[in-house]
Amino acid sequence: MAVDVSALLQRLNLSGPLSGVCAGDWTAQPGGSELVSYNPATDEPLGRVRTASHDDYERVIAASQAAFERWRRVPAPVRGDYVRKLALALREAKDDLGLLVTLESGKIVSESRGEVQEMIDIADFAVGLSRQLYGLTMPSERPEHRLFEQWHPLGPVGVLTAFNFPVAVWAWNAMLAAVCGDAVVWKPSPLTPLTAVAVQHICQRVMQGSGFEAVFGLCLGADRAIGEAMARDVRLPLISATGSTQMGQHVGQLVAARLGRSLLELGGNNAMIVTESADLSLALRAVVFAAAGTAGQRCTTLRRLIVHESIAERFTESLVQAYGSLPIGDPWDDGVLIGPLIRSTTIDTMHRALADARAQGGDILCGGDRLDRPGWFVTPAVVRAQRGMAIVRTETFAPILYVLTYRGFDDAIAIQNDSEHGLSSAVFTDRVTEAERFLSPWGSDCGIANVNIGTSGAEIGGAFGGEKGTGGGREAGSDAWKAYMRRQTCTVNFGRTLPLAQGVQFDVPE
Ligand code: NAD
Repeated sequence: MAVDVSALLQRLNLSGPLSGVCAGDWTAQPGGSELVSYNPATDEPLGRVRTASHDDYERVIAASQAAFERWRRVPAPVRGDYVRKLALALREAKDDLGLLVTLESGKIVSESRGEVQEMIDIADFAVGLSRQLYGLTMPSERPEHRLFEQWHPLGPVGVLTAFNFPVAVWAWNAMLAAVCGDAVVWKPSPLTPLTAVAVQHICQRVMQGSGFEAVFGLCLGADRAIGEAMARDVRLPLISATGSTQMGQHVGQLVAARLGRSLLELGGNNAMIVTESADLSLALRAVVFAAAGTAGQRCTTLRRLIVHESIAERFTESLVQAYGSLPIGDPWDDGVLIGPLIRSTTIDTMHRALADARAQGGDILCGGDRLDRPGWFVTPAVVRAQRGMAIVRTETFAPILYVLTYRGFDDAIAIQNDSEHGLSSAVFTDRVTEAERFLSPWGSDCGIANVNIGTSGAEIGGAFGGEKGTGGGREAGSDAWKAYMRRQTCTVNFGRTLPLAQGVQFDVPE
């Protein structure tokens, strides 16, 4: 299928030289360097975006602070109504924006449209939430006193996002932050600047004329400088950062040094246990989607498969066979299931990891071959691995699946938890005892634990995130909104005496 790229860019307001800075209105000529966005399936440039200088950054933060001052006075359900309009605009743009995500990030078009759907879902969720930012009321121990807590807007929130979910992760943060009464400053990945500019245009259109245009700000950086400035900036009480664990360690320390709050969504080294009782055809489909889908470039990608020794041989054979028939190609074409890696250096990283695996005693059963065509395509790899191999503990952001075996179920859980990361985990079993042990406090130590479902493809309704090297943050549904607000505990005395808590006596002489 031929894609008319220039018509698509035009429909999304992305023709000509673009600005990556928006502080209520677009900065026509930002002072930073120019970024070129490439299509990883062809290695052809898609567009050019000018990035922010330090002065541009200052303007974005000032506009965001001013917008926050006014936005926090708007009733939350009215804020929700702006988000409702954004959700409608995203629905209209779904196909075009999805295709742009495909062109810029390389994920197949069905997944890209799913990513835009995720933006719509979280926006809808946030609209409902705008009437449910509940505080609790507790019984006071003192007579004629009322004790309760309430939630207030926090301030402008800095949002750093990764290339592999170039728009959904912004939406998880921005939609909740907006209904909570915060302004948002977005620093997208330099690998996916066009999708960010396209989303910003949609925000501008929806907010135009409201006086609240700067509630959604954009500040694209060519390198780490803008992200680091945000992490150090006391005017941003919360930094929400999605990316590698290495980035999170750095950003988290900068934010902690100023006693700010950080919400970290970092790397994963996700595992699935396949037991003797599992429905193997179900498990096989789940493994292939989770491990090879998105070309292994999801934070929740399945990287370690832990199979019972009695079925390991048979299951691995079926897996290698299934990998052999996966359609790899242009991610905008119908029927293609595997697109390219994001850049050429990722292929090098994958090859280095496979060489390490071999050197450490692993057996490469398939994959790792670069396709002889433009762009950054590889065949997904399956490696028979041994326990204790160092490379198995590393998140290589490419499609490599390590297969390990186990004998006893407790052993399987121990292998699953033997990771510096703690994002997503899964078990395939038809035994309720195994499923419940996996979900028990002494089972999986991850933020996400699934039964008879793969490790990737979460819905927005639950809180999303993970433990240990994944950073501990929670975004999206459930009560993740609390991260974007400040909690205030209030006590009101409606009597004419002044009793003290814990029975303390302090009678001031008259
Ligand atoms: P990355 O860490 O290279 O970059 C992420 C973002 O942080 C980008 O905006 C980048 O410009 C910025 N950044 C990088 N170093 C920085 C620094 N020193 N200071 C300030 N900002 C900095 O990640 P990536 O390659 O874009 O994405 C892949 C990684 O993201 C994987 O590790 C993946 O597991 C992780 N990820 C996690 C989640 C999650 O929700 N847990 C979601 C998506 C991706």
